[in-house]
Amino acid sequence: MPELPEVETVMRGLRAVLEGRTIQRARLHRAGLRWPFPPDLTARLTGARVAGFRRRAKYILMRLDGGDSVLFHLGMSGRMLIAPAGTNEVPPHEHLTLETDDGWRVGFIDPRRFGCVDLVATAAEDAHRLLAPLGPEPLEAAFTPAVLSAALAGRRSPIKAALLDQGTVAGLGNIYVCEALFRAGISPRRLAHTVAGARAVRLVGEIKATLTEAIAAGGSSLRDYVRPDGELGYFQHAWKVYGREGERCERCPGPPACAGVERITQSGRSTFYCRATQR
Ligand SMILES: [Zn+2]
Repeated sequence: MPELPEVETVMRGLRAVLEGRTIQRARLHRAGLRWPFPPDLTARLTGARVAGFRRRAKYILMRLDGGDSVLFHLGMSGRMLIAPAGTNEVPPHEHLTLETDDGWRVGFIDPRRFGCVDLVATAAEDAHRLLAPLGPEPLEAAFTPAVLSAALAGRRSPIKAALLDQGTVAGLGNIYVCEALFRAGISPRRLAHTVAGARAVRLVGEIKATLTEAIAAGGSSLRDYVRPDGELGYFQHAWKVYGREGERCERCPGPPACAGVERITQSGRSTFYCRATQR
């Protein structure tokens, strides 16, 4: 499933191809994904100029010059495919095709169809039903240790679950929560309300650093964003604990001090951590 840094990289790729361009042709190939497409989607897209892009959590907002924003979510398996225009052939599982005035096509592909495409007025983006409940954006200055500890106050759930709650902080998924907790030396089982003071400072710093490093790994130019097959935004990244059950943890000398990276299950999801240094 695409996480925030992948979504950021997909958005940057879309921006490189679409910003400033006019959408000459928009085609839908089914009635909807997770929800039906807005009935006037292709009409609003056709002939519109793309004014800019914004990412909010794992949502991409493509702003059109007429005052509409197109909201995309990649769901579990969504991908954006860039190719030269000029063929009417539609790849398998492509549900929306956009063609630009300078001869490119962008396809939204989503085999499992948990993604979504919606329209919202640009001036009212944050009031959209999917964006309104979201907490602060983790990379913005407004996400501070004080804001995080206020959101965690009184909460007796494990910190892992509290961070996956999109109302605490927006856009964090399982991988980045595991990584940030490891780097901050905080146990995923610690009760959320006890993460305050110096711990909150460390955690906010590591959330920002982990995401920033992963976004940087996605590259900084269209050539970086697009894979050879035209797909945007997926890149290899080495995790410190995620997916490393049983491996030596990089912070410890090894046994007997640390048995290596452990995997436990919390709320039905795998958590990877070092029992020795995460308290
Ligand atoms: Zn360890």
